[in-house]
Amino acid sequence: MTGGITKDDFARMIAGAAALIRAQHVMLSQLDCAAGDGDHGTTMLRTVERLEKSFAPGSPEDLKTCLREAGWSVLGVDGGASSSLIGTFFSGMADAPSCGASMSAGDLAAIFEAGLAAVRKQTKAQPGDKTMMDALVPAIQALRIAADSGKSVPEALHDAAVAARAGAESTRNLIARYGRAKFLGEKTRGHPDPGATSMSLMFEGFSSEFGESKGESSNA
Ligand code: ADP
Ligand code: MG
Repeated sequence: MTGGITKDDFARMIAGAAALIRAQHVMLSQLDCAAGDGDHGTTMLRTVERLEKSFAPGSPEDLKTCLREAGWSVLGVDGGASSSLIGTFFSGMADAPSCGASMSAGDLAAIFEAGLAAVRKQTKAQPGDKTMMDALVPAIQALRIAADSGKSVPEALHDAAVAARAGAESTRNLIARYGRAKFLGEKTRGHPDPGATSMSLMFEGFSSEFGESKGESSNA
């Protein structure tokens, strides 16, 4: 990648996330069988299909428009809590002033922060409540810290993916306090949260599209 991140780069990030979700959807539904109604993998398949469609060749060149359409499209997935939160996340990104044609790591952090702010209007769940927030919040914090310390976009996304994975894994021994899983109480202990796991896969997929560029030090 040379220069800032473009709509085409973002499309590749979405494709990377979609590939990992497709590869892992059975596992995601199995996690949701333990803590919910078993549909999370299917919902995530529909979610990434719509995200990819919004960034497919022929989609608007403007990243803001694509993110807004992607968000609205995911909100239309008939899939319960996760699609509504992820749809809100993407449409929230489109509202960030820094969402533009060529974004630095700091701009990227800012659009993810705007997405998170929109999600926070939909849920009061915090890290520790065993939801997708356990992966999303540390991922975006790591992205911000990386950007502020002068790291490149690939490095910042790598740090975000590492933080998301640790956050998802940290849910294993928690008790769910939100969503369907909260009704299962103690039974939710021992399994990672499905939504946190898929959020971690999404960030891993975003990062994977920049290959082995973790060692780069240029500020893209
Ligand atoms: P549903 O629970 O409606 O069947 P999914 O199975 O697709 O939806 O997604 C379940 C995931 O959604 C959970 O594992 C959790 O991460 C996330 N989730 C559910 N409710 C909330 C909430 N109120 N706040 C944050 N995340 C939530
Ligand atoms: Mg479910």
